[in-house]
Amino acid sequence: MNYKSSQIDVLIVGGGLAGLSSAIHLSKQNLSVLVIEKNSYPKHKVCGEYISNEVLPYLDFLEVDVFKLGAKKIDKFQLSTPKGQLISADLPLGGFGISRFCLDEALANKALESGVEILQDVVEDIQFSNDEFSVETKNNAAFKAKIVIGAYGKRANLDVKLDRKFIKTKSPYLAVKTHVKGDFPENLVALHNFEGGYCGVSKVEDDSINLCYITNYESFKKHKDIQEFQEQVVFNNKHLKTIFKETVPVFDQPLTISQISFEDKKPVENHILMCGDTASLIHPLSGNGMSMAIRSAQIASLLIIKFFNSELSNREALEKQYLRDWNTAFKFRLKTGHIVADLFNQPRISELLMQGLKWFPDILPHIIKRTHGKLMTIK
Ligand SMILES: Cc1cc2nc3c(=O)[nH]c(=O)nc-3n(C[C@H](O)[C@H](O)[C@H](O)COP(=O)(O)OP(=O)(O)OC[C@H]3O[C@@H](n4cnc5c(N)ncnc54)[C@H](O)[C@@H]3O)c2cc1C
Repeated sequence: MNYKSSQIDVLIVGGGLAGLSSAIHLSKQNLSVLVIEKNSYPKHKVCGEYISNEVLPYLDFLEVDVFKLGAKKIDKFQLSTPKGQLISADLPLGGFGISRFCLDEALANKALESGVEILQDVVEDIQFSNDEFSVETKNNAAFKAKIVIGAYGKRANLDVKLDRKFIKTKSPYLAVKTHVKGDFPENLVALHNFEGGYCGVSKVEDDSINLCYITNYESFKKHKDIQEFQEQVVFNNKHLKTIFKETVPVFDQPLTISQISFEDKKPVENHILMCGDTASLIHPLSGNGMSMAIRSAQIASLLIIKFFNSELSNREALEKQYLRDWNTAFKFRLKTGHIVADLFNQPRISELLMQGLKWFPDILPHIIKRTHGKLMTIK
């Protein structure tokens, strides 16, 4: 292999929210940054596309204005059980709706504008020796870099190569997403449960309604196809039936992904700093993976800058501090998220919970607060 080492300080594997946010941040400090992303922009992704407002100060720092891109401001929340019991609440911090098609492309453009190099290729191998990384791609490109950020999302072949524990367990979850046109309040995000899953509903920048649901494979495989599954399972929730039946699809076919894992992962593996879903994925029912991805990018970037400024004495100090800061930011949030998702996964308990929440409606904003972060600060 002929390794190119032309002054790459930070090589970022994956140009999604975490990878691109980090790339922009680091390039602001004149570090040389290469992002390797397997897809071109723009591209639709399976995601609920509702982002917590906690990221707004940081997006402002990165100079990405989501409202100029048409993002919808969202401050109301609805939750329903499989039997259709419905409760509503104000969102304590609120959020916005924007498609990944639009947001990822805007971040990629900003990264290019800031001097980041983006290469379209697939990273196939990352080795660490003599205090530097050697990275190889599918198209036989090879690079040396001082720091590597792993921001390649939920799962990739790289996880097998890195022998990560979570990849050895089969994950039972799959997800389906589509965009539709029709009536739905612009300022609302709804989470409607059905037996074996839940579906998020909210509007994005072009007035499309995002419908994105997660279910388990056990429940899905009893049905011939997506259409039959929706008719026989999803539509048992009357709110979902109305939304699906009274709107018009924008996509020819829904997008699907499988093998979604909520297992614990390690935020540092083989000296690679993992960001976003590569470090951990929270249940979308009870947390905001997108804002966690963006926040983890900030945590990693701040420490990497300290590492290059010699404020952190060596790589070990960098890795230890990243682990500490990551755990402080996310550990509690992930735990609460998992507990809430597990409870709603049990039909009888979720109906009882909803009764309780109806009697004591003030509790819901507290639960939301515990699984959502505080407004990010710029350091
Ligand atoms: C069904 C579902 C609904 C969700 N809804 C919401 C929601 O409404 N709100 C919310 O906040 N969060 C939601 N999430 C979570 C959110 O989608 C993720 O947390 C977020 O996308 C994480 O961003 P990321 O940058 O870590 O990863 P990604 O956005 O997945 O980016 C990873 C990038 O890496 C690239 N890549 C992968 N492998 C390689 C490789 N080997 N070489 C080069 N490039 C590679 C991919 O092409 C991709 O662009 C949802 C998740 C699911 C599954």
